[in-house]
Amino acid sequence: MFSKRSKRIFLDHASGTPISESVKRAMNRFGTSVNPGGIYKEAVAAKVTLETSRRDIAALFGALPDEIVFVPGATEANNLAIMGTVKAWQDNHPDEIPHIITTAIEHASVLEPFCELDREGAEVDYLPVDREGRINPRELRNLIKPNTVLVSIAYANGEIGSVEDMRSIAKSIRHARKEQGSAYPVFHTDAVQATLYLADLDVRRLGVDLMTISGAKVYGPKKSAVLYLKRGTTIIPITFGGNQESTYWPGTEDVANIVGLAVALDEARSRQEQESDRLVAVKDYAITWIQDHLSGVTINTPQEGEVLPHIVNLSIDGIDHEELVIRLDAKGIAASVKSACKSGEEGDSHVIRAIAKGDRPTGSIRFSMGRTTTRQDIDRVVKELEGIVDEMNNTYKKYY
Ligand code: PMP
Repeated sequence: MFSKRSKRIFLDHASGTPISESVKRAMNRFGTSVNPGGIYKEAVAAKVTLETSRRDIAALFGALPDEIVFVPGATEANNLAIMGTVKAWQDNHPDEIPHIITTAIEHASVLEPFCELDREGAEVDYLPVDREGRINPRELRNLIKPNTVLVSIAYANGEIGSVEDMRSIAKSIRHARKEQGSAYPVFHTDAVQATLYLADLDVRRLGVDLMTISGAKVYGPKKSAVLYLKRGTTIIPITFGGNQESTYWPGTEDVANIVGLAVALDEARSRQEQESDRLVAVKDYAITWIQDHLSGVTINTPQEGEVLPHIVNLSIDGIDHEELVIRLDAKGIAASVKSACKSGEEGDSHVIRAIAKGDRPTGSIRFSMGRTTTRQDIDRVVKELEGIVDEMNNTYKKYY
């Protein structure tokens, strides 16, 4: 006899959210994209739609429409922000070495452009984070010097859920600029993981010059993203072609995707408070259960201060976390060991290594919840988790 298969529980929303029904409907209503660059009726209509989406998105973040640059993805937005800022500075300072600052726990699409600039001869500093995954803005202030061109710090971390104090960071940067009488350093933030759940995303209140936002993590289409580029901030393009997106990102815009992005962002921001409150309760429930029922657990997600409401990241002593994820998958539960972008690489997550500081093992598992996650899902997950961890421990005892 086969039992009815129970539904799969998807707990990997931090690496990508399913596309929402209203986003799908809006994209279908718009239909297939024509190139908005034409001068015939359909193209003009597409251009109007494109500009309406730009205006709507700008309003959500307290930006001006001409500060919104559409790019194909968050990876491209981060690359444009980082490489574009440094290249623009180098054009005006051909005999100087640029200095750039980021943190040890950024996403690969920030760390890799930093590595590339390092290879090209830039001076690079990686700010350490504390055990909760936060930098010290005073330490940042001490690092800034006359040739510091860029500071790139993510608003929230997608692996452990830590949130940075953006206003303090912006304040440190503003003070440094004032003292040096310079427009530099430019402040960029990757807000991809913050967009669904954090209350404050107003670019002026946050004090950022560049901000990356993605549709892929907010129930919008994959390959839809925005780089907020504050008026007066100088960057140069890193790809070359037509004059779309004021030449910052040349190439035909995918208007259907952009329509979907606008709807997804609007929905995300209007549901932000309610959905965050709901998920905090589910998350607290999960953490309490785990702490009460499993031994040798370290919760890597910060438990104090501002934190994302949907991520539970933990390490269990003596457990192979990759095997744990595979065993959970077999039970119908999708979780992850580290950021999907680095999943093919050997070794533990660089984020967990940065917060563990060499004092403990750094294997980890991340559960990231979403709109469909319920307490009943958590009940099933934690029961399976307990059973699997027991099973794994017994197997280890038998063989070692
Ligand atoms: N930044 C962060 C914080 C992310 O989580 C991701 C996606 N994992 C990206 C950037 C890159 O997004 P994409 O893969 O859609 O380009």
